[in-house]
Amino acid sequence: MNFDIPARAEDYRARVADFVAREILPCEADKASYDEHGNIALPLLETLRAKARAAGLWCLQLKPETGGAGLGKMGMAVCYEEMNRSIFGPVVFNSAAPDDGNMMVLEALGTPEQKEKWLKPIVEGKVRSAFAMTEPHPGGGSDPSMMMTRAEKRGDKYVITGRKWFITGAEDASQFILIARTSDDPKHGLSALMFHKDQPGWSIKRRIEIMGPEEHGGHCEIEFDGLEIPAENLLAGEGKGMKVTQVRLGPARLTHCMRWLGLSKRCVEIARAYAAERYGFGIRLADRESIQLKLGDLAMRIEIGRMLVMRAAWELDRGGFARKEVSMAKVQVANVLHDAADVAIQINGARGYSRDTVLEWIYRYARQARLVDGADEVHKMVLNRFLNEEGSDFWRWNVEGEAKV
Ligand SMILES: Cc1cc2nc3c(=O)[nH]c(=O)nc-3n(C[C@H](O)[C@H](O)[C@H](O)COP(=O)(O)OP(=O)(O)OC[C@H]3O[C@@H](n4cnc5c(N)ncnc54)[C@H](O)[C@@H]3O)c2cc1C
Repeated sequence: MNFDIPARAEDYRARVADFVAREILPCEADKASYDEHGNIALPLLETLRAKARAAGLWCLQLKPETGGAGLGKMGMAVCYEEMNRSIFGPVVFNSAAPDDGNMMVLEALGTPEQKEKWLKPIVEGKVRSAFAMTEPHPGGGSDPSMMMTRAEKRGDKYVITGRKWFITGAEDASQFILIARTSDDPKHGLSALMFHKDQPGWSIKRRIEIMGPEEHGGHCEIEFDGLEIPAENLLAGEGKGMKVTQVRLGPARLTHCMRWLGLSKRCVEIARAYAAERYGFGIRLADRESIQLKLGDLAMRIEIGRMLVMRAAWELDRGGFARKEVSMAKVQVANVLHDAADVAIQINGARGYSRDTVLEWIYRYARQARLVDGADEVHKMVLNRFLNEEGSDFWRWNVEGEAKV
């Protein structure tokens, strides 16, 4: 067993860390850096993106032939954590959701023509994209088999009717990957289709107001009323919607975890800095055992999250689906992020509740982590399914040279 990271990944990590510290972190304190929804203002984003590209720190997650660095998931885990030391970090490097997951699935499953048309513009930073799957009740949410949005085949087109909601980035996105029902087959009833915002037959009903800061383009409810999508825009073929979601959501959940670990570490960083200088009742906060236990506990739980993320990344890099590993990482890291923000606010006292630090931003953001890309309960249900299937083999070690399961 080898816990070393490749020297190349370390080189990128150090460069990302330096870029975040020099170029991005200082912007957080300036109110002018924010848009009206609490995210980085677009003009500043464009300036920082140009610098990130010039520094060779752009789309590190993609293969070299797609315009990335070919870091693999393990290298990404190392770098994404550093990117999200700043709340603005990932989007500057074009490594933020939902573009990040959309680029990876298009890279994995798109035809050469589809990659040229739908992937290249996102890689170049010219457009933003969205992934439309979740529906309001009684449609598909945690359970995708309940999906109601239909894609009815007419000639060489699919005609879409239905409704989606919480579609991140929809207001600003130029292109969408839509998951819709093409048949009632329980296993092959869903398909993934791409469409452009300028096509008629769909509309944004509302931008849903949420408790946290918003990604650019918000989280929208959208309606389809006869949108026509040419059959050539099917991703991976008709009936392959579940495959597309598996290929997209597994790695995308994991990249969320990679970023959230960075945010969790930032919470600890801010808490430690305050505890180191704040005195009360005759001693420093940092010298109180109760504070030390809180910080020690967080450090340990962050490290458990990192181990789970790395294990899942390793499994994905060797061609597995890592369903079990991703589920464990997702639950662990989402909860650590939430608790890290909470504890850091507590240690900072009133200051933690103010906007003098980014803790309140992270705290509001963190609550979604336990819901998006599968609620905690759903991942635990999946884990229990594996436990039932595998029994004590759930915890088996991989033996050197053994084929992946
Ligand atoms: C900020 C944000 C951004 C999002 N972005 C996108 C996006 O870009 N595209 C997209 O398609 N979707 C997006 N979503 C939707 C997100 O993926 C769904 O919210 C998530 O999959 C859960 O579905 P749901 O909200 O319908 O919850 P429901 O399915 O209604 O479940 C509600 C609750 O029931 C409980 N529950 C559900 N199943 C089980 C179970 N088996 N056992 C026990 N308890 C259970 C859980 O506590 C769950 O939170 C986003 C959501 C948020 C909040």
